[in-house]
Amino acid sequence: MDSPRNVIIIGGGPAGYTAAIYTGRADLNPLVVEGTQYGGALMQTTEVENFPGFVEGIQGPELMDTLRKQAARYGADLLTTDVSAVDLTGDIKTVTIGDNTFEARTVILAMGSAYRNLGLPNEQRLSGHGVSWCATCDGFFFRDQHIAIIGGGDSALEEAMFLTRFASSVTVVHRRDTLRASKIMQERAFANPKIRFLWNSVPEDVVGDQEVTGLLVRDTGTGEQSTVPVTGVFIAIGHDPRHELVHGQIPLDDEGYVLTEGRSSRTTVSGVFACGDLVDHTYRQAITAAGSGCTAALDVERYLADTA
Ligand code: FAD
Repeated sequence: MDSPRNVIIIGGGPAGYTAAIYTGRADLNPLVVEGTQYGGALMQTTEVENFPGFVEGIQGPELMDTLRKQAARYGADLLTTDVSAVDLTGDIKTVTIGDNTFEARTVILAMGSAYRNLGLPNEQRLSGHGVSWCATCDGFFFRDQHIAIIGGGDSALEEAMFLTRFASSVTVVHRRDTLRASKIMQERAFANPKIRFLWNSVPEDVVGDQEVTGLLVRDTGTGEQSTVPVTGVFIAIGHDPRHELVHGQIPLDDEGYVLTEGRSSRTTVSGVFACGDLVDHTYRQAITAAGSGCTAALDVERYLADTA
């Protein structure tokens, strides 16, 4: 086996590639195992208008391709495959990909977090064409339009309220006749004249040819189907941090996010760092993921210098 690398980065989203750019420029020759879904979550979207540096906005896949090339330019080795196992104990960590095992003194975890899908027949096809999982990212595109949002928790109501800044109306579609959200959030939502509630309703499909034109719902009491005429459908039913690989080896919080110490990217396991949406309950933006990838790279540099 080759001698251990300085750093292996697991994940090829904004966090992983930014960590690669920084560790590459620090001459650490990072290995990035970017996953078969390299590029991360932004590969699923079209226009990204809030990543600084692009006056006219940029297509998600184009942005990720640029970050990827920038990482390669500064000496990152990229493997477009998934890591199947890791052993993070000990001074030298191992990362297994099929039959191959790689060793490194440090590992940066940047596997992201998956938005939960509803599994509707046309949900993925219309993703980026009216279907969205992120009000902060996409609310701006729905000025003066009618929107539906699916979910009943605090974040669904928070997103609904944010969307009323742009939309003419926001219909909260909920399977029961009461919400899970906290009382204070419910009161705020009930008081907002742009928010409507469609109770006891489950979404059956997103309607639309090129763009969303409606949401097909079924009344759970009567079984009757109807189409809500909306041009935007926001899905706000939670996220699943991709922690499977490190489960049992790294402390996670109650919701499955990797725990890091204070403002750093350090986990409680020496030599293991984590960044991006894998650690982020709150912000979940490309730029915050990139920023925390930078933090992880700088933490790795310091760790390697201190343990040399
Ligand atoms: P991700 O981008 O999720 O990348 C994680 C990477 O880890 C992936 O490459 C995956 O393949 C890899 N991986 C996972 N498991 C393994 C494994 N076992 N082995 C190897 N690799 C693995 N944010 C904005 O700022 N602006 C927007 O306009 C915007 N629009 C969005 C639109 C959509 C449809 C979605 C889904 C998200 C959007 N976001 C937007 C959010 C943004 O994409 C995320 O916050 C950001 O991508 C998180 O970056 P990350 O690097 O932490 O994780």
